[in-house]
Order: sequence, then structure tokens, then C-alpha cells
Amino acid sequence: MSQKLKIPFAKVPVIGNEFKYVKEVLDSGWLTTAGKAAEFEKRFAEQVNAKHACVVNSCTAALHLGLEALGVQPGDKVFVQSMTFTSSAEIIRYLHADPVLLDTEYGSNLITPQILLDAIASHPEVKYLVLVHFGGQAAPMEINGQKGILDICKEHGIKILEDAAHAFPASLNGKMVGCMGDITCFSFYANKTITTGEGGMLTTNNDEIYARVKTMRLDVWDRFTSSKPSWEYDVVEAGYKYNMPDINAAIGLAQLENAELFRQERQKVVEYYFEHLADLGQIDLPVCHVPFNNHAWHLFPIVIKPGSPVNRNSFIEQMAEAGIGTSVHYKPLHQMTYYKQRYHLKPEDYPNAERTWKGNVTLPLYPFMTTEELAYVVEHVRRILTGNN
Ligand SMILES: *Cc1c(COP(=O)(O)O)cnc(C)c1O
Repeated sequence: MSQKLKIPFAKVPVIGNEFKYVKEVLDSGWLTTAGKAAEFEKRFAEQVNAKHACVVNSCTAALHLGLEALGVQPGDKVFVQSMTFTSSAEIIRYLHADPVLLDTEYGSNLITPQILLDAIASHPEVKYLVLVHFGGQAAPMEINGQKGILDICKEHGIKILEDAAHAFPASLNGKMVGCMGDITCFSFYANKTITTGEGGMLTTNNDEIYARVKTMRLDVWDRFTSSKPSWEYDVVEAGYKYNMPDINAAIGLAQLENAELFRQERQKVVEYYFEHLADLGQIDLPVCHVPFNNHAWHLFPIVIKPGSPVNRNSFIEQMAEAGIGTSVHYKPLHQMTYYKQRYHLKPEDYPNAERTWKGNVTLPLYPFMTTEELAYVVEHVRRILTGNN
């Protein structure tokens, strides 16, 4: 048995211009939203080929602004998958609308065209979809020779809000996630593929949506920098205080410069896991439908199969004893008290999410993970799962 290591679940490298850009902000005498935020928006829009980008202080804020801009009204219903982070669904409640939770494909945790078609057949009144690009893999928006989610939504008059909190940088058929649908929202939370500590970005090609989002996000910079008197301003809407401070945007700009390097590094880790865990009958590995280099690889979630020598919780405990951090993505929302009680949800309506939840655990994954660290993780995964203690 090798010497004990300490391996975190996630770690975002700070190896570029982070300190330099933050110092520029501190030296400028203006610490909140200004030029660095504007530059971050411009660069980010370029990277995902979107016409507009709007930076905010979290992905949850971006999702809220996005759903508001799509025109969701109180009492409307919105499709969203059960296997996701709570933000994807709670923003629907912010607008006093109601989520209709959907099951997902086992292995990828994505909504498929068939799942969507079945959902439309049983809920023809639903006109909105929050679509999660789970783990960093683009959902099947477009499929060669077959109707993808974009086509189906267009046919049925359904508007899509993409939750790409896991999916930067990611692509599908040569198009970046962030330029395919009407609105895409990204997260720069501490453990995401690039970070600003807390932060988010909304991208769109639609001028009207962009204008609405800009109105509803606080934009005071002009007040302090324009030549016009700054005391005179009007309130045209009850907006939200969702602007991102320049200190955070400075970190984001520096992270953005290394985003593709980080992605390549994450892919190397994933390739190691696939190579060294594929023969292990006790687990199912994540299902990948896209070429590896189109995937953002935010997460590497495995599922421990029923009948294995250990269950998920004891696997996590034993990994922790070996000094290895893991996580669970996710406990499905249909099991959460708030949604379960409010909407009388039944587990049997979510067979794939249930099957996943019984054994899901996410392995450590971050750029520049060393071969020694990877070998250590694999050694302990194999030891624990084969019961060779
Ligand atoms: C992290 C995450 C969010 C929320 O991101 P914040 O920036 O923390 O608000 C939303 N959706 C998914 C799927 C996430 O993983």
C-alpha cells in the first residue's frame, strides 16, 4: 500500500494573470463593476461565439434573469430535470412558476429527445424548458439525421434556458455551448471549471433578451463615469442587485485565458480514469456521447452498482479515511422535501434518477492532477470496491 496522500475533490489552479489583474483593480480606486467586468464580458462572448454576454454575481442570478427575460409568468409550468443542482429549479419558484421535474438518461444524466417528447405528450401546456448540460457534456440540442432538442422545442413553441454551470468550455457539432439557443447561463463558483469565487455569465444572440437582462441587472457604472450629472437617474423596473464586482471579474479574465488548458488537463484525468477503471464490474462509468475534446469534464460521476461489496455512503467514508475527497451529484430534486411535498412527487416516476442516486459518487477531478495522485485514487477505488481491505 502506497504512502497516504491528501487529495481534494476539486481545486482550481491560479497560474496566470490573476494577481496582476486584481492589483490593477485595487490600484484603480474603484472596486466594483467597471472596466474589468466589461472586458470579461467581451472576451467571454468571443470564446463562446455569442453576440452578447452579461456578467453577474452567480449562475443562479443569471438563470433568474434569463427565465424572467423569456417571459415566464406566475402559474406557468417549466420543464427541468430532477437530477440537478437546486438552482436549476428554484429560479422557477422565484417567478412563482412551477417546475415539472423530468427523469434523465442513465449514465449521462441528460434530457434526451425521447424524454422530452414523452414529457410534452403528458404536459402539452408547458412552454419552457431549463436544460442542464450535465457534468460538462452538451445535451443533445442537435443530432445528425434526427430531431434534437432544439428542433423539438421549436416545433412545440417551447423556449429553452440552458444551465451550462458545468459546461465551459464545451461544444456540440462544432458549435460552442453558449451560442446555440436563446439564453445560456454559466457559473464561476469556486469549484467550477473556471472561477471568480462567486460569479456567473449569461450569453445570448438575441438583442431584446440582452436589453431586458441589462435592465434587470443593476448597471450603475455609467452613473459614476459618464460626463452627465450622476445624481439624476430614473427607475424603470424593479431590477435585481446582481452585478459582478471588478475584483471578481479580474480573476475571471485571468482564468479565461487558461480555460482551454484547464479543459485539456481535466480530459487527461478522465482518460486515466476510463483506462484504469473500465474493467471494474462493480461500477458504471459516465456515458459520453460527444468526442472527448468537446466535453468540459467538470465532473466524473460513477455509479456503484447494486450488489457491490460496499454501498455509496460507506465507499465515501472509506475514501475519506484514505484522504480522498469525493462528492455526490446529486440527490435528485424529486426526493427533496420542498418539491416532494408541494408537488406530491413519486420516486417511481424517476427510475433513472433513482437508480443513479442509489450509487452515485463523483471522483476527484482537477487540472494538473499528478500521475501519483491518480494512481492513488484508482488504487483505493479498486481496493474498496472489490472488498480487499
Ligand atoms: C453550480 C450550479 C449552479 C449555480 O451556480 P452558482 O454560480 O453557484 O449560482 C446552477 N446549476 C448547476 C447545474 C450547478 O452545478
